[in-house]
Amino acid sequence: MTSTTKPTDVHLDKIKIATPTPATTTPTERCAGCPKPGTLRCSRCKNDAYCSKECQKKLFKTHAPLCKTLAAFQDRPNPDMHRAIYFPEYESTPRFMWMDYNDPYAAEELLAHNNSSLKSTMIMDGDRKLQRRLGHNIQLSYRENFLSDRSDINMSIETFIGSELGRTFRGPFLAGGWNEIEDDDQHEDSTETVDLDTKALAPIVAFLKKLAGSKLPCRSSA
Ligand SMILES: [Zn+2]
Ligand SMILES: [Zn+2]
Repeated sequence: MTSTTKPTDVHLDKIKIATPTPATTTPTERCAGCPKPGTLRCSRCKNDAYCSKECQKKLFKTHAPLCKTLAAFQDRPNPDMHRAIYFPEYESTPRFMWMDYNDPYAAEELLAHNNSSLKSTMIMDGDRKLQRRLGHNIQLSYRENFLSDRSDINMSIETFIGSELGRTFRGPFLAGGWNEIEDDDQHEDSTETVDLDTKALAPIVAFLKKLAGSKLPCRSSA
């Protein structure tokens, strides 16, 4: 009988190379929580991949709020609309919403209050690793004096940030996705808006935490 023969290291290597990761359509997708391959998938939204239950648990808080509603945000109301993530003041979690970025007043109507001016920050600027993982950039828009104006406290951000970092975010926030188009016919830099999905929330929250702990709102850097 040879059935108990221990395979040699060479055999093991061959087996590993010859056996692909089973049953995933995107085999190169990385874990949402670390650089390892994401071989497990969230069973509800089917959008986020993880290397392990541990990484899934680690990211649960920034995955769960949007995971539940991703399925309801698949049918674009019209071609100008893109899926954004809205952080309302008076709700306990962020949510998806359709935004028309061709409408120059859409964000203003949603965010501005009493002539407060708005500000936008690129979250992914300078963070290539995340940009590679998401495949796009994220822009966050909010009231310019979101720390000190008299807007109400943003509860959907408070959920993640808490008050221990010493800063309270006020007024609504909106996150949108975009890409730079480089090979444009007119040789001009232009951008296209893209849909955000469940994967965007964790980096947004990480950015907000950094902002809450830093001295001033600033560009994200490594
Ligand atoms: Zn992982
Ligand atoms: Zn999910």
